[in-house]
Amino acid sequence: MTTPNTIRIHHILRHSNVNGPGDRFVVWTQGCSLRCKGCFNPNTHDIMTGYNVDINELANTINCTVDIRGITLTGGEPLMQVDAISKLLSLINKNLDILLFSGYSFDEIRKDSRNLILLKKIDAALLGRYNNLLSHPFYGKKLVLSSNRIKKEELKPWLNTEIIIGDNNVQVTGLYKQAI
Ligand code: SF4
Repeated sequence: MTTPNTIRIHHILRHSNVNGPGDRFVVWTQGCSLRCKGCFNPNTHDIMTGYNVDINELANTINCTVDIRGITLTGGEPLMQVDAISKLLSLINKNLDILLFSGYSFDEIRKDSRNLILLKKIDAALLGRYNNLLSHPFYGKKLVLSSNRIKKEELKPWLNTEIIIGDNNVQVTGLYKQAI
């Protein structure tokens, strides 16, 4: 479905303040087979939906977006497209910090050397299955920090939502307390 130069995307948002610290460019990848309990984004599961984006064009869009602190990679499951994500990160402005959401645990991730190489390019990651029955922070996901560019304190208090009204849809994004 994708080529070596494309990435399968659910959605992008140039500015978000609820998907990590500061103003961030957010990429939701398309495709996830993990089926976490109470998944917050089931529309991202089907790899047959979404759309392909040229990785160079996406990197260029990110690099041309002003006043962002960093980028957040979420989904869907970004590591299902580890080669595309790696290529994207090699092309973006190195001043941007990087936050990754993955449903895979660290033990699962380390079985593939490509994932470990990717993790070295990422400042902070929230890893493991999401479970809406567990409490904030992070509903069972584990925080892994790989640099001091993103600090634990910047992530813990973050529990907000944004409502984005588009031409054809309304999107709610961010970590929030769901009704159980
Ligand atoms: S990894 Fe994310 S998108 Fe996939 S099932 Fe879990 S919460 Fe949903």
